[in-house]
Amino acid sequence: MITPFRLHAALLTPLSNERMAWHPHGALVVDERGSIAWRGDEAALPETFLPLPAMRSPHVLLPGLIDVHVHLPQLDCRGKFGASLLEWLDRFIYPEEMRFADEAVARDVARRFHAALIAAGTTTAMVYGTVHERATDIAFEEAERAGLRIILGKVLMDREAPEELLESAIDGLSATERLIERWHRKTPRLWYAVTPRFALSCTTQMLTGAAVLAKRHDTYVQTHCNESGGEIARVAELFPEAAHYTGVYEAAGLLTPRTVLGHNIHTDDEQLAMLRAHGCAVAHCPDSNLFLGSGRFPIEMHEHHGVHFALGSDVGAGTTLSMFHIMHAMSHVQARSLHPFEPLYRATLGGAAALGLEDSIGSLDAGKEADMIEVEIEQSFCRGKRLQDLSAQEIASVLVYRSANQRVGRVWVGGEKISERGGTEDVPTPSV
Ligand SMILES: [Zn+2]
Repeated sequence: MITPFRLHAALLTPLSNERMAWHPHGALVVDERGSIAWRGDEAALPETFLPLPAMRSPHVLLPGLIDVHVHLPQLDCRGKFGASLLEWLDRFIYPEEMRFADEAVARDVARRFHAALIAAGTTTAMVYGTVHERATDIAFEEAERAGLRIILGKVLMDREAPEELLESAIDGLSATERLIERWHRKTPRLWYAVTPRFALSCTTQMLTGAAVLAKRHDTYVQTHCNESGGEIARVAELFPEAAHYTGVYEAAGLLTPRTVLGHNIHTDDEQLAMLRAHGCAVAHCPDSNLFLGSGRFPIEMHEHHGVHFALGSDVGAGTTLSMFHIMHAMSHVQARSLHPFEPLYRATLGGAAALGLEDSIGSLDAGKEADMIEVEIEQSFCRGKRLQDLSAQEIASVLVYRSANQRVGRVWVGGEKISERGGTEDVPTPSV
């Protein structure tokens, strides 16, 4: 239970990918359960809420940002240039993930990772761990301590990776089931995602076993799909019976309404129709796509087939946890400027919809959890105007297109303030 309060601020919140609600002189009431009891123009605030303690913010209030694809163990690997996806994994990522056999490393990185999410204004994330059971426990412990909403899973790999990271399908699936029993819905903010890394690193036995666990325990599923040419060619060699990459996951039973597939760049009509039929969502990770040169995400094809997508940082192929930067990168990948409402939606309400959580988070609507962040708007953008004199489009535009300068202030999850001050830096220093 928390002490109810009202917060007076300029409020911007998505209604869809084309519409935002903008209250330049807004107010929002948080009830004792941490839910939003009311939101609107402060002049219309019902009298019944007037006795509540009041706070006023000089900044813009947004819903907490949502990152639907990020790798916790790759926090310190950002910006390591290594050519294509598969070569980058071998040279930088697999050696780094081996370090997570050491509990001290797992603890240090998990703690800094969650602090960095908060600093960036991200309140919900869907996260890949490493293959290590103990490191995954530690990641969940630190997520719980941070107060964030986290969907997390231990990575499964039983082939095509260094020996130190491989396990038998039986061992990997047994560890996964123990983790599900310990962590899935342990609190209202924690969920498990069954996490076969990608088809390339998993045998059919591992993939089908993973699907059985996800179904038995009603968990999320996360994996990668159709990211790069080399990866797709190798999957075709390993699964000659499959018509295509997406078909490998369908045959295993991994396509569900709670499945989020990372990337899906080099896809086609048949595969998108398959994703649509199963109600899967896609994590679009534009900064990662630029870094690895993976290709242009086909927005129009996803829209045409009605396949929902949202934004992911994909750290460490993504270079930052700042979802403002990821929103900006979305337009770079398309090589055109997008209306700023589109990327802002994909990192808020659109992210919630990808996770099936749109009824509880993603916007500042009455009845939802009070996940919210303050963001300072640069004075130089206002040019003598007050913040309240700007339009919703101007506010969204400065948030998305001056992404390098965003300063996150206070951060709340479920009405509970988890940070007095976010920050501009998302790179705490390693201690191990
Ligand atoms: Zn990834």
